Amino acid sequence: MSKLLNEVLNANRDYMASFDKADLPMPPGRQFAILTCMDARLDPAKYAGLAEGDAHVIRNAGGRASDDAIRSLVISYKLLGTREWFVIHHTDCGMETFTDEIMRDLLSSSLKTSSVDENGWHDCCEGNGSTEGNYIDWLTIKDQAGSVTEDVIRIKSHPLVPDEIPVYGYVYDVKSGLLIEVPEAMEAGRA
Ligand SMILES: [Zn+2]
Repeated sequence: MSKLLNEVLNANRDYMASFDKADLPMPPGRQFAILTCMDARLDPAKYAGLAEGDAHVIRNAGGRASDDAIRSLVISYKLLGTREWFVIHHTDCGMETFTDEIMRDLLSSSLKTSSVDENGWHDCCEGNGSTEGNYIDWLTIKDQAGSVTEDVIRIKSHPLVPDEIPVYGYVYDVKSGLLIEVPEAMEAGRA
């Protein structure tokens, strides 16, 4: 068995041994949702003080308001009763390090993991790439405050999102753990 798989299953057995959450209801008890980046340094349960059953956490690369993130938010509100939403991007996000063009070029030359240095991204190997990446909007980020604001505006103006939901825009600082308000996003996200 993979070492990692073994570690995860062992950790899960430990979790189960002291598990006492069997009676939680499905709808989030604190009636809110967070859309944030998948970055491994971010732990929304810790940075926002969540316990099991408290809130929905929707994660993707960048924490972007993609169609699929909006699908989850609409379900979160319409069927599971959340009333306030957060969009939280973060400093030093990997989504700032490339563009659609760079990603498409890398994927068309190779599917293997690329490396990055001061001159940008490089493929290790040629061959066995795919041009399928040309059909994906990678939702990269130029500046964090701008991307948070853009996503709050997209969510607030979406036809399936009711006006009464406030959407709060923040940037999480990976150096301090602090959530930094994005004033333009907060303004755009008012209920
Ligand atoms: Zn990120």
